[in-house]
Amino acid sequence: MLDVAIIGCGVIGAAAAYELSHYPLQTAIFESENDVADCTTKANSAILHAGYDPEPGTRMARLNVEGSALAKEICARLDVPYLQCGSLVLALSPEELPHLQKLYENGIANGVPGIRLLSAEETLAMEPNLAPTVVGALYAPSAAIVSPWEFALAMAEVAVRNGVELHRSCPVTHIEKTAGGWALTTPSGIVETRYIINAAGISAQAVHDMAAPHKFTIQPTRGEYYLLDKSEGSRVHHVIFQCPNENGKGVLVAPTVHGNLIVGPNADPVEGDDTACTAAGLAFVSAAARRSVPNIRFSESIRNFAGVRANVDTGDFVIGEAEGAPGFIDLAGMKSPGLSSAPAVAREAVKILEAHGDLPAPKADYKDGRTLVRFKELPPEEKARLIAKEPAYGRVICRCETITEGEILDALHEEIPATTIDGVKRRCGAGMGRCQGGFCGPRVLELISKTLGISPLDVLQDKAGTNVLLCETKQEGEHHD
Ligand SMILES: Cc1cc2nc3c(=O)[nH]c(=O)nc-3n(C[C@H](O)[C@H](O)[C@H](O)COP(=O)(O)OP(=O)(O)OC[C@H]3O[C@@H](n4cnc5c(N)ncnc54)[C@H](O)[C@@H]3O)c2cc1C
Repeated sequence: MLDVAIIGCGVIGAAAAYELSHYPLQTAIFESENDVADCTTKANSAILHAGYDPEPGTRMARLNVEGSALAKEICARLDVPYLQCGSLVLALSPEELPHLQKLYENGIANGVPGIRLLSAEETLAMEPNLAPTVVGALYAPSAAIVSPWEFALAMAEVAVRNGVELHRSCPVTHIEKTAGGWALTTPSGIVETRYIINAAGISAQAVHDMAAPHKFTIQPTRGEYYLLDKSEGSRVHHVIFQCPNENGKGVLVAPTVHGNLIVGPNADPVEGDDTACTAAGLAFVSAAARRSVPNIRFSESIRNFAGVRANVDTGDFVIGEAEGAPGFIDLAGMKSPGLSSAPAVAREAVKILEAHGDLPAPKADYKDGRTLVRFKELPPEEKARLIAKEPAYGRVICRCETITEGEILDALHEEIPATTIDGVKRRCGAGMGRCQGGFCGPRVLELISKTLGISPLDVLQDKAGTNVLLCETKQEGEHHD
């Protein structure tokens, strides 16, 4: 019998697991996909928002400000790429100035540190590539950028190190009330648990409805992006927002922690997890972005991608024990700023266990912290020392990003080892560069095949069914002229 079953391992499930792993509880995560952070958590704007957007007094407002501050500490502790670059919300016409004033007042009410309104001159002095039509901006120095999938992975890894079980490729398909708690149906059988945490992202409504009366409706809403090469990475140095509208925070232009430029998203209601990019969506994104930063060179685009928001009809995050379902805890409706809020959202779940008297004293022997080898960032003497110890660090496999075989092997042996080509990319960055894995992909595939002891034909790009190789073209001993 588990104490807590977490359904879903995006950033919310991972943060919940990290928090709970501090206590001597039997906790397990059930994740449908073959890797963690493989849904909305890997495809978003990657901003840790300062917290002036949510209406004061909402859950979102409180958890955004608390969560972003906690995320900063966690990223430092767990070696997650993070940069506090600050953000600017632009007014692009005098009519938008009252909107900035409203956001400023929200920010003050929400306790956002250091925000201030800037004149056009001050704004353009900070960001010379902005449109000359800028009439002012709201500056929030606490806004930051992060690697969202590494943030989730790092928290999940430390949770697993501290005893949380992770079941990948393990969807929960049915939930039933039992005398002692709940019974979950999974591909590996029925699992009994006292508590359930519903962290199922856009599927959180479906999971809630398995256990409790219908309470909220999620409208998946897709956002499409351009990711531009590092040659455009310093086009702006802050996160550049436009004034938000009814569709969300609008199209932003921002540096990424990996040195690229990200531009997007739009907001299109879709059915389910539809992450297709469309010509119309991308045309909207590039046109909207040029209003803020006219000289972006979209010819430097190396990737388009899309993520799906869990837009919810309650207007606020859905957090708490579901009515009529004691022990079933929703962490749902996690649209933006869900990434920023995740660590604080996780603490809300822990507080519910505490309120029931079911939170034991924290573990005395907790093993926190995490460091990765990032070969290209090391000084020359450290590189030489590492190669002498392990020659695989001397072989560069991903030439765009200078990622070595040693780092790829590390990704295949971590607490939550990568099993796919994209899983390797998310852990160490191989394939993230300008050629997008065109050069290193086959070598990564070979390393996965050797390390996992599986046929190259069984190596996946990402989710189930994405086999890269279809059949052998040559048999051993076969001769072709
Ligand atoms: C376009 C866009 C831009 C955004 N930008 C930002 C931003 O800049 N800053 C910010 O703070 N937030 C942002 N967000 C929001 C943020 O990305 C989300 O709030 C966050 O990633 C949600 O995490 P999650 O864990 O709830 O969902 P997910 O990451 O989707 O994880 C849910 C997991 O549950 C699993 N699952 C579902 N059903 C089951 C089941 N039955 N059994 C087992 N597993 C199941 C799924 O496979 C999935 O892995 C953005 C979102 C989008 C789409």
